[in-house]
Amino acid sequence: MYTDIKTILEHANKNHYAVLAASAFNMELARGLIGGADQMDAPLIILVGQAQMTKHARPEIFVPMVKTLAEETRVPVAMILDHGRDWEKITWAYRMGFSSIMIDASAYGFEENVARTKKVVELCHPQGLAVEGELGHVGQAATLDGCDTALYTKPEEAVRFVAETGVDSLAIACGTAHGNYPKGFVPTLNFDVIRQVKAATGMPLALHGGSGSGDDNIRKAVEAGINKVNIATEIFNSCRDHAKICLEKNPDLDYMSLMMEVEAACQEAVKHFISLTGSAGRGKDFAPKYSFCHGISKIDTGVGE
Ligand SMILES: [Zn+2]
Repeated sequence: MYTDIKTILEHANKNHYAVLAASAFNMELARGLIGGADQMDAPLIILVGQAQMTKHARPEIFVPMVKTLAEETRVPVAMILDHGRDWEKITWAYRMGFSSIMIDASAYGFEENVARTKKVVELCHPQGLAVEGELGHVGQAATLDGCDTALYTKPEEAVRFVAETGVDSLAIACGTAHGNYPKGFVPTLNFDVIRQVKAATGMPLALHGGSGSGDDNIRKAVEAGINKVNIATEIFNSCRDHAKICLEKNPDLDYMSLMMEVEAACQEAVKHFISLTGSAGRGKDFAPKYSFCHGISKIDTGVGE
């Protein structure tokens, strides 16, 4: 079932669990993610980064494919433009059928962040698209931006940001960062930031840069109030490493078999991360918004004819 992040995250927030949000830019990743979610009976959010959409997974091709795959499973699947920064890219994703948009104006000051985020909310909400904003700033793992506590989300600012923008979910900064950390480094998360922002706003909260955080940190972040765990790099690494193993075993492996192996590796990685979020088995809680049967069940065959 194809849906938006608001539908998924409101349920997660109310029932104190998180949903896996994982990146995809080709068929193998999309099918691996949705297949894993289907097997775990878990809601799923598919992330497509602005650069991924622009350089490779053009929405004219990618959105219909994800929608087709989503409609083949009963679990809810949302698709969000991840870290949308440019207005023309955001409106491109909007026109092409993304169900949700993340606007990341976190590099700007508070007022400019509010103004840019609000503009996207005003575009999306009338058409039923959900919007995520970012307050505080989740930087890059390679430069250890997650250690910079000055970038962390401040609860009192979060209250104002949510009220002034009308976002449906909020990405917060509390110690994680995007990409691969230096070898052997495990980030220290400030769970109090999560608890305090949750207590102040009551909003669905997103943890970006989940890759490399360690299973224990992800579980604790969910306990503290995270409802959306973004993972890209770690699943990509699993796919790449499995492809390397396959080619080491058989350098002449045909290309289609290699792609099928990659999809299977993606599916296994997804199932692992779903198991950390508490979303396994939640798919059955979601009913389709519309059904053909609902439409025909109201025919009145009696009185007055
Ligand atoms: Zn992110």
